[in-house]
Amino acid sequence: MMGNRRDLLKTLALLPLAACTSELNRADDGKQAQMPKIPAGWKPPGSELNLQKVKIKKVRAITTAPYGTGLVIVKVETDQPGLYGIGCATFTQRISPVVAAVNDYLDEFCREKDATHIEDIWQTAYQSSYWRNGPVLNNALSGLDQALWDIKGKLAGMPVYQLLGGKTRFAVDCYSHASGTTPEKVMDHVQSIREKGFRHIRMQLGGYGSTHLVDDPAYKRHGFGKEKDNTMNSQAYKNGVIQMFKMARKRFGDDIELLHDMHERVEPMDAIDLIKRLEEYRPYFIEDPFSPENMRWFPMLREHCAVPIAMGELLNNPHEWVDPMANRWYDFIRTHISQIGGITPAMKVARLGEWFNVRTAWHGPGDTSPVGHAANAHIDLAVWNFGIQECKIFTEQAREVFPGTPTIENGYMFVNEAPGLGIDIDEEKAAKFPLRDYNYGWTQVRKPDGTPVRP
Ligand code: MG
Repeated sequence: MMGNRRDLLKTLALLPLAACTSELNRADDGKQAQMPKIPAGWKPPGSELNLQKVKIKKVRAITTAPYGTGLVIVKVETDQPGLYGIGCATFTQRISPVVAAVNDYLDEFCREKDATHIEDIWQTAYQSSYWRNGPVLNNALSGLDQALWDIKGKLAGMPVYQLLGGKTRFAVDCYSHASGTTPEKVMDHVQSIREKGFRHIRMQLGGYGSTHLVDDPAYKRHGFGKEKDNTMNSQAYKNGVIQMFKMARKRFGDDIELLHDMHERVEPMDAIDLIKRLEEYRPYFIEDPFSPENMRWFPMLREHCAVPIAMGELLNNPHEWVDPMANRWYDFIRTHISQIGGITPAMKVARLGEWFNVRTAWHGPGDTSPVGHAANAHIDLAVWNFGIQECKIFTEQAREVFPGTPTIENGYMFVNEAPGLGIDIDEEKAAKFPLRDYNYGWTQVRKPDGTPVRP
């Protein structure tokens, strides 16, 4: 029965080509003499394979922590021997719910579906829980989506960037991170990163997100909050960042691109004040001036200075980009692509940005897995409106767990040119690095009186 059906499908699929061939051959009668002839029986390369239905047999989550950070990878297995795909579903702060969403729901949902129907699977999986659009479900969906692109690339015998349109640049220009507890220490770090060939460097002063700027906050002396909580002193932060930029321009001149992430941790008017004062130091971009709850402050910021702004790391749904882009509120898309559901929605956001001259700057920290970095890089290679890519230099241990992890030379990222995403997971090695207890401290930031600050 299946054989007959497959034969019928092949016949039907070839019908338009046969009709086209006979039409073209009629060019001999002189009416369309300029039309090229197609030899009888010609088929496009790979057409046999493309006609074949590739059934999904299993979707499962794999966890590992080869460099300390908890990572979630989704593996999609098919009915074709040896044909599978992998994708990044890493939501480090909530790993267990993502694993459950994959193993308990997406697996059953996807079984027997055609793995080549990426858009259909994305659209139906997206609304399969009826209530949708959160980081847990979007990350689970991303693992599935990226794995399907990986499979399609393997079927086509091409790297994923080829399926997205092909290269528009030879490699992916990246920025790396300089940090330190004083501006002087940050400068020394900038120097060492420059010596590795990076042209773009993000500078952060203080602890993660520029916190830790109050050593003995009053709230802790009064037993309020937790000992591990971080404390934000907005004025010390603002003055420190200005000093840092001033020092960097003095020491390194104009031949370097300087970036900074505000992590949304000061009041909106303080953010506008700081960005205006940084304008003279020509930042490449300032990231996340406002929390997602404060988007309506963007028009005021844009009226007051010409500093390029990157935004979007905390946005969940591709629709959240539409109004900000149409209103030119920012210049760089800082999406974490697993956070919005994978390559399929990220390509739509990137293409939307092209119409408004908003460039990509995908989120690429350590809590994006090497698989997620590969997905970032394949999109970066293909879209015209690429801006810059945040990168992580992975340890040898991580590279052994993830063979084919993108490489970085002189600040440029290169993907493995193998078909698909060009990266794999060695499950035996991955199992040697189980998840550890996660420290939530960095998300817990307070003002000196103990008031919680939103990142
Ligand atoms: Mg950020």
